[in-house]
Amino acid sequence: MHASPGDRYLPPPRFTWPEGAKCTAMLCFDVDGETTALSEDPQLARRRTLMSQCEYGPRIGVPRLLGLLDHLQVPATFFIPGYIVEQHPRMVEAIVAKGHEIGLHGYLHEKLAYLSEAEEEAILGRTIEILTRFTGSKPLGFRAPWFEINPWTPALLARHGIDYCASAMGDDVPYFHDNGLVEIPGQWLLEDWEQFAFNADPAWGFIPENCAKVFDLWWREFEAMHDFGCCFVLTLHPWLSGRPSRVRLLEDIVTAMQAKGGVWFARGREIAAYTRAHPEARRELDLDVPKSPPVF
Ligand SMILES: [Zn+2]
Repeated sequence: MHASPGDRYLPPPRFTWPEGAKCTAMLCFDVDGETTALSEDPQLARRRTLMSQCEYGPRIGVPRLLGLLDHLQVPATFFIPGYIVEQHPRMVEAIVAKGHEIGLHGYLHEKLAYLSEAEEEAILGRTIEILTRFTGSKPLGFRAPWFEINPWTPALLARHGIDYCASAMGDDVPYFHDNGLVEIPGQWLLEDWEQFAFNADPAWGFIPENCAKVFDLWWREFEAMHDFGCCFVLTLHPWLSGRPSRVRLLEDIVTAMQAKGGVWFARGREIAAYTRAHPEARRELDLDVPKSPPVF
């Protein structure tokens, strides 16, 4: 027996979201700025064109994206390396003034996989101090540079009073690490670097994609996540997604999400607080093995 045409597969929702929402959207901006180059090689500071491309994010991309978020009336979460917070204090002030969240993203966008536990903890302590000083409140969220965490990272975050991590990729709804830390997982599909990043030398990225293709890529994932009750975590870099046609792309996709309805647009800290307060919201996926083979 076959499903009739148009009879789509609709599994039970993975998560019970607040206010009857069918899915959640977390818009993330990783403001790597100059650390995109400096974390690779401090000597790149002499490459003025390369550095100006990196600076485009904090200087042009962020103000423009803040204007769009205002226009759309949606909140966002900005993950910013400590060095960028120090270099661009007025940008930080503007993000906070608009009510968006600022989370941790290393000091110089360090790859955690190459750090010892002690080195990682020193950077964590230093960046918590910097973000607290510049934003006026202690950061609650952490996004690992390059998304990669170490086995000890959840314990370090919990020990330093961080509420959630948004770095792993083990699910498409929030889950708990063994120590109870909330994880809000992302995925490479919903990232702008793979779509838009390019630099000649050092060689970064690929040929920039057409926004229409990227809209299709992200919209298809959103629509299915809406059906499956997931958490749509979109990760954008202002030096890429602050370019005019990509700002239009974000406008188009968020406007389409708002028109579809049933979407809870939330900052990481709200998703983490809700997940912690409602552990029953998460529906596990069981391997339901039938006694006899299914008949098709
Ligand atoms: Zn980053």
